[in-house]
Amino acid sequence: MPVENSTIAPPQQESASGKAPLKVGFVSLGCPKNLVDSEVMMGMLQTGGAQITAKAEDADIIVVNTCSFIDTARQESVDTILEMAQHKISGRAQKLVVAGCLVERYRTEIQKNIPEVDAVVGTGELDQILAAAGIEPLQPAAQSDSPFVILNSSSASQSLKSGVSARAEGLAREQSGRFSRSEWEGAIADLPNYLYDETTPRVLATPKASAYIKIAEGCDHPCGFCIIPQLRGKFRSRHFESVIAEAERLAAQGVREVTLIGQDTTCYGEDLGLKDGLALLLERLAQIEDLRWVRFLYAYPNKITGKLLETIASNEKICSYIDVPLQHASATVLKRMKRGAGAEIFLKSIEKMRRTIPDLTLRTSFIVGFPGETEQDFDELCDFVRAAQFDWLGVFSYSDEEGSAAYHLADKVPPREIERRRKKLMQIQRQISKKNKRKLVGRQFNVLVLGPSEETEMLWEGRTEMHAPEIDGKLFINDFGDHEELVPGTFYRCEITETHDYDQVARIV
Ligand code: SF4
Repeated sequence: MPVENSTIAPPQQESASGKAPLKVGFVSLGCPKNLVDSEVMMGMLQTGGAQITAKAEDADIIVVNTCSFIDTARQESVDTILEMAQHKISGRAQKLVVAGCLVERYRTEIQKNIPEVDAVVGTGELDQILAAAGIEPLQPAAQSDSPFVILNSSSASQSLKSGVSARAEGLAREQSGRFSRSEWEGAIADLPNYLYDETTPRVLATPKASAYIKIAEGCDHPCGFCIIPQLRGKFRSRHFESVIAEAERLAAQGVREVTLIGQDTTCYGEDLGLKDGLALLLERLAQIEDLRWVRFLYAYPNKITGKLLETIASNEKICSYIDVPLQHASATVLKRMKRGAGAEIFLKSIEKMRRTIPDLTLRTSFIVGFPGETEQDFDELCDFVRAAQFDWLGVFSYSDEEGSAAYHLADKVPPREIERRRKKLMQIQRQISKKNKRKLVGRQFNVLVLGPSEETEMLWEGRTEMHAPEIDGKLFINDFGDHEELVPGTFYRCEITETHDYDQVARIV
């Protein structure tokens, strides 16, 4: 679907030539990191004089920002491209642009096999979106009075530009072939190196008062199942002051909840020579007066330092929330995954997290069915999940990706068995979640109200500190208390009145 958010579309404006502006429909697939790329490209297009539309049938140009993480994501990307191509064949659209991870993987094949595609833009080429769309930039850049558009800041100094250095690990892994795309026919050899900064125009597509900030891009880790390093390049951090400048501007525009993202946020700043870079960044962000909640996603297990935990514990504005994808708990499987550690080390580390941050919400995700995963390994994972009592947990089925180290491993687990294990682990977690969520009944929390629920008009939705955007269970509001109406993007106090397996119901107090 095109990005559905009419509030971010600017008022109709005429182009420099006096003609009506070209309308661009944007479809963003995949993860929040890809969403930020979409927001950046929408910002560039809008600054170039185009108008963003939420309706594909009204668009002169359609951009599909794709995901290529696993097979199902690739299929969804291809289906969406073909669906959008119909608007060019029999509708108003004149141009179809494909962007994102699928381009990094299948650049020439997309152009060869889908003739309706006019141009492709890889993850490292976001600044080429205007040329790809055939739009000549306005001079000077078009202004917009949309409150949710970040425009170029003329006062931004050159010293605030993104970091472009690399970690020693990244350089070493590059030499050992970690980022090689030689197995991928159609992928270009150059790795993406693009990273936006605080001067880059950006149109927010997230609900009012919330925004993601990408603090780093790429990944240097060697995880055997993952092709993200080949798709996104070596790890690189944005400059510290660039992130702060962007957060300040977002706060001045009404954003109150900021979620920091990157393939691995806990490596933040290592390439810039910063020690405990993420902790320092969080500390500084917490000083921005108008921000109310700051959180980060995608921590790497052995990068969660004591300083980071203490920083979370001692700052009210930093959400007591850690998302740490552990991927497995069996030491044998983790070793084959090229990640290391195991259940015992993880349990100790979780105990330390909960000791330091008593009201911690802990999220993780696992992959089941990695090549060579035995029934015993899987049982170990189940026991670990029972012992760790995570607040939120995601389970992914192993996907055999060409170009990943695991692709060449023997002992592949049959798909039906993978599915059985996925279902069983989710069932274990459902019971844990159900039991633990019940303990929340009667407790009060601050809630960021998002608006009417997409599921039913009878309910509204919101988020507490325990809920990261998009990925966690939902908080439904069925009682406005003394308020005649609620204002989306505003904080209220609520009491949990009912809980389900994953979702909760609350009343405003
Ligand atoms: S840390 Fe995450 S993004 Fe990096 S290689 Fe491992 S799974 Fe992939």
